[in-house]
Amino acid sequence: MGERSDAPTYSLTGEDGGADQYYTDVAVFTDEVLEKLHEDQSISKFSQYIALRKLEVWDHNIYALELLMIGVLWNVYSSRATAGSVYMGKLLSSLYALRSRSQEARRVVDRLKGIAGTSVLARRRHVDERIQLHSFAKLLGWLRASGEFEQESRRLKVWLDFLRGLPEKESEGILQRAVRKAVWFERRSLECLGRYTSNVDTYIENNRQRLRWQENRIFCSRNRVEYHLNMVGAEIMNQVFYDGFHAAPGKIVFLPICMRNKTAGKCQAVQEGPGYVCRRCSKTCRVQEVTALAEVYSCKVLMIPHASTAFGQERIRVGEVGIIGVACVLNLISGGYKAREMGYLPQCVLLHYSGCVLHWHREGIETSIDMERLERSLREGQT
Ligand code: SF4
Repeated sequence: MGERSDAPTYSLTGEDGGADQYYTDVAVFTDEVLEKLHEDQSISKFSQYIALRKLEVWDHNIYALELLMIGVLWNVYSSRATAGSVYMGKLLSSLYALRSRSQEARRVVDRLKGIAGTSVLARRRHVDERIQLHSFAKLLGWLRASGEFEQESRRLKVWLDFLRGLPEKESEGILQRAVRKAVWFERRSLECLGRYTSNVDTYIENNRQRLRWQENRIFCSRNRVEYHLNMVGAEIMNQVFYDGFHAAPGKIVFLPICMRNKTAGKCQAVQEGPGYVCRRCSKTCRVQEVTALAEVYSCKVLMIPHASTAFGQERIRVGEVGIIGVACVLNLISGGYKAREMGYLPQCVLLHYSGCVLHWHREGIETSIDMERLERSLREGQT
């Protein structure tokens, strides 16, 4: 299989159908990004704040990613965030908690989400505003109200609290430097990773009308720079959680449902907890292939219908289970945070391209991954 030209937004594969070049490019670029971000003293100051407040300690490189995320999300969403009503945002964010109550509640809330995403949350101010503490707080409100950035906004709230404790001049200096770094990142990431995301703008343009009033409008319209941020974010998280993942006694592979090659009615997988276990009804199905491979390493595979429900409701004790999450690019950072929040130690393998019927493609494209990369994670996880 060669390069996938019909992939809706991104594709990691080259002409040989492999993603080796992508993984080399993203590793080199991530080193450059981290070097650039660590020039900023605010990361070590933030880490002192975490220690002082006895909050859960993560890693300097995750804090660096978060600083960059502040700037990137500001550059993409500030014109919408500063135009919206704070009260409407609060109302919307509180609605999302109702989604887990029942299928019907989910349908109603998703309908409202679609309406809000095309109306109140889509309004823009056409005046450039410099980032300040109060406008950063508004950005977080908008991110929460969008229903798409639950994990990111939770992490960035810790930054907001940290910044509120600093003299105003200092906190605004940090925010403005984050925005400048994001401007650099947008330009540089296009040079280093742009070849993998060349269909994003066309996809957004061609689907603008179709996505109006749809629950996934904001998700499917995310900017190219957000794809690049997720690519770098996944690389950072894989490095940070590597040791913990390998030390964990239990391992699970989570696969998205778009990897199976039959429709829901014909697939024989059986439900187990938050996911489905493959019954291997098709020799050509990629889920079957992964399940057979994981079995060699005594590792369980669960197929997950939607990223938001991947980990169920129960937290587990940190250190007990490592997961390999297979996901499309836009779910990488939020998926990594969510996994860690629920107690899992994540490693991720990227889908070669996006293609699920839920979000990206009318009929759905069967998606694939780098099997060698997956096997390496499984093998190393044994030692
Ligand atoms: S092989 Fe597994 S995932 Fe694929 S269609 Fe059959 S039961 Fe479903």
